[in-house]
Amino acid sequence: MYGTQTLLALLALAAGAEFSGERAFRHTAELVRLGPRTPGSAAHARAVEYMRSWLRKLGAEVEEDSFEAATPHGPVRMRNLIARFRGSSGKAVVFSGHYDTKVMPASGFVGANDGGASAGFLLEMARAVSLRMRVHDVWLVWFDGEEAYVDYTPTDGLYGSRHLARRWHQDGTLQRIVALINVDMIGDRDLGILREEYSDPRLVDLIWKTAARLGLGRHFLNRRGAVLDDHYPFVELGVPAVNLIDFDYGPNNSYWHTPADTLDKVSPESFAVVGRVLLGVLAELERR
Ligand SMILES: [Zn+2]
Repeated sequence: MYGTQTLLALLALAAGAEFSGERAFRHTAELVRLGPRTPGSAAHARAVEYMRSWLRKLGAEVEEDSFEAATPHGPVRMRNLIARFRGSSGKAVVFSGHYDTKVMPASGFVGANDGGASAGFLLEMARAVSLRMRVHDVWLVWFDGEEAYVDYTPTDGLYGSRHLARRWHQDGTLQRIVALINVDMIGDRDLGILREEYSDPRLVDLIWKTAARLGLGRHFLNRRGAVLDDHYPFVELGVPAVNLIDFDYGPNNSYWHTPADTLDKVSPESFAVVGRVLLGVLAELERR
């Protein structure tokens, strides 16, 4: 006899609802091929079109959350993309990450891991989630304007997440969120994820325990560090939120925000690790 968990896992496998690192990598490659996806650029608009058409194919309810950001370079039109898959509990689990790349003129920077990986990862997560039985709604959010134009300050960087957290606070949506899990730079071949210190400690524990149970604990480090990222505006408003980030990209993080952040530094295996763990975490959140 199979246990319920084994049976559910077999059903998910049969339905194609297992997370594929290869597919996540291919989405990332498609986005990187467009060139730097800085807000307002043609490549950025093409990235949105690519993501929208994929999400429509999956049958998601897609919302474009458009707003004007006041940046040090003047006002910039930005848009978050939100995909919703309905559950039955009235509660929601959110997976998020950013798809914009940092403005670095004439540098050759393409943001394979920083911007590309989170966006590609979420596109495959959407496919896996679309095929599962769902208790909670699952919402996937691609934030725009995560990157600062100059430096992270309360008014530069995290434009999309600050905008959406405020909006969802005002309309009461935040109260429905059981957990918000943000990913950033999780495509690194040499994957080691920080225990990020602004994150909800109970949610961090659940993720680390799930990784250990799946035999993937070596990628979830005991190293701690505080990293301002798109989870932060939600943390500030009391949402149980966590940031999964590998902030050691290349020797001494030397690939970060440089032209060395290219596709060859990113691997399908790393996507698969994070995808398997987060689908495991989703199942745990549904059991509670
Ligand atoms: Zn960045």
